[in-house]
Amino acid sequence: MLPLTDPSIFWFRRDLRLSDNQALAKAAAAGPVLGLFVIDPALWGPAGANRQAFLVRSIRALADSMDGQLLVVQGSPAPSLVAVCEAAGSGKVFATEDFGPYGRRRDRQAGEALGAVDKTLSLVDSPYAVKPGSVVTGGGTSYKVFTPFFRSWKSHGWDSPGEQVAADWVDPNLVAPDLVDRGSVGCDAAGLNVGMPPEPELSIELPAAGEAAAWDCFETFLADRVAGYGAARDLPAVEGTSRLSPYLKWGAVHPRQLLDRLGSSPGEETFRSEIAWREFYAEVLFQRPDSARHAYVAKMADMATDEGPGADELFAAWAEGRTGYPIVDAGMRQLVTEGWMHNRVRMIVASFFVKDLHLDWTRGARFFMRHLVDGDLGSNSHGWQWVAGTGTDASPYFRIFNPITQSKKFDPEGEYLRRWLPEIAHLPNRSIHSPWTEKTGAPAAYPPPIVDHGQERQESLDRYAQLKQTWA
Ligand code: FAD
Repeated sequence: MLPLTDPSIFWFRRDLRLSDNQALAKAAAAGPVLGLFVIDPALWGPAGANRQAFLVRSIRALADSMDGQLLVVQGSPAPSLVAVCEAAGSGKVFATEDFGPYGRRRDRQAGEALGAVDKTLSLVDSPYAVKPGSVVTGGGTSYKVFTPFFRSWKSHGWDSPGEQVAADWVDPNLVAPDLVDRGSVGCDAAGLNVGMPPEPELSIELPAAGEAAAWDCFETFLADRVAGYGAARDLPAVEGTSRLSPYLKWGAVHPRQLLDRLGSSPGEETFRSEIAWREFYAEVLFQRPDSARHAYVAKMADMATDEGPGADELFAAWAEGRTGYPIVDAGMRQLVTEGWMHNRVRMIVASFFVKDLHLDWTRGARFFMRHLVDGDLGSNSHGWQWVAGTGTDASPYFRIFNPITQSKKFDPEGEYLRRWLPEIAHLPNRSIHSPWTEKTGAPAAYPPPIVDHGQERQESLDRYAQLKQTWA
């Protein structure tokens, strides 16, 4: 028997927090709230084990902060929402608006399905300090280059963070006893799969999940690292960055909460601009949903890339960290071991993939998305496109990262290399960046370079020159 009439349903997605949650605050203002997370197979499958496990832990942390009053169901969102609304006697669903291509489609379908049975879906706020679509040029068009976007984004400004939302949580047992997790996933009377999927077994260690962990991470960064962030953020051997990306991905903390705590020191200003890169790429993806998988600059789409058994072998060597270029191999081993890679090294391995191995950037981006705990469509696709020379603000195609000079510049003592590549840890600094140059001979346990950077650089330039001829 229902003790309540018409509770609101709050559909958590990428906003797994109770503080400064504007959409949740709106739901709570309308009365008692039933918290809901829908595990959507369309997103769960491609997420990869690392992100799946981090999501399960993030949902658990959220549920704990709600005294367990969270309903988790697995299934396609539109019919799941209708079924939960029917079972709970609810006519209104609230959620934070999503601006990604799939999220927008899913929300349109969910809104239509709810509308068909006289229920509403209200979309509020966004996962960004500034809602995509809000920062435009004087002519009313969207920005295609980061620096003017950043200026305009700062002058647009953002809301001050809100308080912790004190919702009157509805116990899912009271509202819909048939739907509540009975410890295992089962099909209930409403045809819903209730409960959390099993957490994939991992060999990697994940960061602590949840809102409190996000704040610990941020407070540590502010206390110990933000002052030196400008210089240290480029050194992969140093714990110099915030490590907030997995928390931002799931909204355990909102960017406006971070921005609100920043002053004007150079380190804080640089950190603000990195947050803005995330917002810029979300904006670009919002304006051009096709750019998730296709060249943003259409005329770069026909750049010649390699396929077939030879290309597959190069791909495998890159993915397994055995290209013979230590900085590339260290980065790839960090990715598969930690589910995270330092930003500088992400750029180096992506450049090597596209410009030294001549492989299609979308293939590398997919591999990243399978392993990254912070995997985010906008930042990942456009991080790749920036390096590949096919995206907004892209480094021109002829600017090609040299993996040896990058390694010497950003890991001069070879500390990062020694951490990930024990086979060459004994080499002196003079040869660790290019082991084949070691006077006493290259270590037998480490592969020789799979390609010659000088030759492949030239090959890339030749392919670019050929492509340009087709533009005339
Ligand atoms: P910090 O240096 O502490 O930065 C703080 C926050 O700013 C980050 O958490 C992130 O939200 C944002 N940020 C920083 N740099 C960038 C950037 N270049 N682009 C967009 N946002 C940025 N970031 C992701 O969150 N998910 C991805 O899937 C992703 N894929 C990438 C792929 C490539 C090829 C490249 C070059 C970059 C990618 N990035 C991605 C951006 C960046 O590498 C990570 O955000 C950063 O390494 C996360 O570590 P951090 O939180 O310690 O970063």
